[in-house]
Order: sequence, then C-alpha cells, then structure tokens
Amino acid sequence: MKFLLLLPLLFVTACSTPSSSTGRSELGNRPGPRGFHTVVIDAGHGGSDSGAVSRVTGDMEKTLTLDTARRVQDELGGSFRVVQLRTSDTFVDLDDRVVQASRAGDVLVSIHYNAGPSGMRGPETFFWRVDSYSLAKRLQQQLAAAIPGESGNRGLVRRRLRLTRNPSIPCVLVECGYLSNPSEARLCADPGYRQRLARAIASAIRDQAARGDAGMGPLPRHIDAPPSRATDARE
Ligand SMILES: [Zn+2]
Repeated sequence: MKFLLLLPLLFVTACSTPSSSTGRSELGNRPGPRGFHTVVIDAGHGGSDSGAVSRVTGDMEKTLTLDTARRVQDELGGSFRVVQLRTSDTFVDLDDRVVQASRAGDVLVSIHYNAGPSGMRGPETFFWRVDSYSLAKRLQQQLAAAIPGESGNRGLVRRRLRLTRNPSIPCVLVECGYLSNPSEARLCADPGYRQRLARAIASAIRDQAARGDAGMGPLPRHIDAPPSRATDARE
C-alpha cells in the first residue's frame, strides 16, 4: 500500500523536472534578489592565471581583482556577510568557483579587468539570467558614474559564461576597465581609483538588496540554455 501511494509522487517529481535530461532548466528565471545577507565576491583569475597584463603599468589583472575584491568588502562594511572566493594569489578553477558560490551565498559578483583593442575603455558588466539583470544594471550604472566621462561606457552585455549562468544564485561579472588602454590602465594602477570602483560596486549591491528589481525597468525575457562549459566558445 505504501509503495502504491509513493508511485504517483515519484511520477509527479519526474515530470516536474523534464529539463534535467537536456541540461536545460528554468534556473535564473525569477525576480532579482532583495533583502539578501551574504555576498560572494570573486576576485577573477589568480595563481598561474594572470589574466590581462598592462603593457604600460605592468599590472596583472589577478592582482588588481584581488585588491578590488578586498576594497569592495571594506566598502560593504558590516551590513553584509562577505565571502571571498580567493584571498591570496592562488588558482581557483571556474567550476569550483561556481560550486563554492552556490554553497556560500545569496549573490555572486565576479570582479575582472578587461583587455581588447587599445582604443576600447570603460566598464562592462555581464549577466545572463533574469534574476541577475537588475544587479548587473545597477553595477554598470554605478561604475559608469564613478569613472571619468571620457572613459566611456561599454555597457551591459548579456553573455552566457560559467559565472553568469551556472551558479544556483544570481550572478554577475564586472569588467572594471581596460588594462589594454594606456590611460585607463594608469587610472586602474591608482589605489584611490580602485577604491572609487569598489565604492561603486558596493553601492550597487546595497541598492539591489534594498530595492530588488524596483526602478530597473522591465526584466529581460528568459533564455533557456544549458550550463556553460569550459569548451564553449567565447570563454
Ligand atoms: Zn578576467
């Protein structure tokens, strides 16, 4: 009798997750977070992975991201619990970052510095999921406001990356500026400038926690897509 009663339950469970066999899911198709307490900060790159390197200042992206991540934690003060995915110059695999972030926190902000053609400059913020849109938009707006006007604004970019698709929590990736641009690389080498960037990032996180999606306009449509993998192009 007990077995018979369980059967319909199993059937319902199996039917409610038909997408798992294809790797697709509704993950991320929900409103943006509000009233959250634990912020995961990911200092991009590290260890053997230097990330971008400025030809002008010699700065390595992995060093600037770690420094900026610490500054963001300082700026957030005691109002949030902050979890850093790395606190030293160590290599952490992207998939491990996804697992750790999902386990540890309510939202993930991954911090990077950009590289590209030398004329490109300005902040750029990546998101993929519906639940990450408002936080990404706030980060991009705050960074653009903190950066001198002539730096331009690369904008908000919807891109499926391992850190913008795969965690079980809302997740965004910010590119604070182009190390390949000589004048922006010089700005990024200045600790005071990085403090301004960190203040902007912290302010966006605080606004998101206080207001959720309010004031950010209509949410983008959900795009059903499988998890991002290391073998995907554009990563
Ligand atoms: Zn990077």
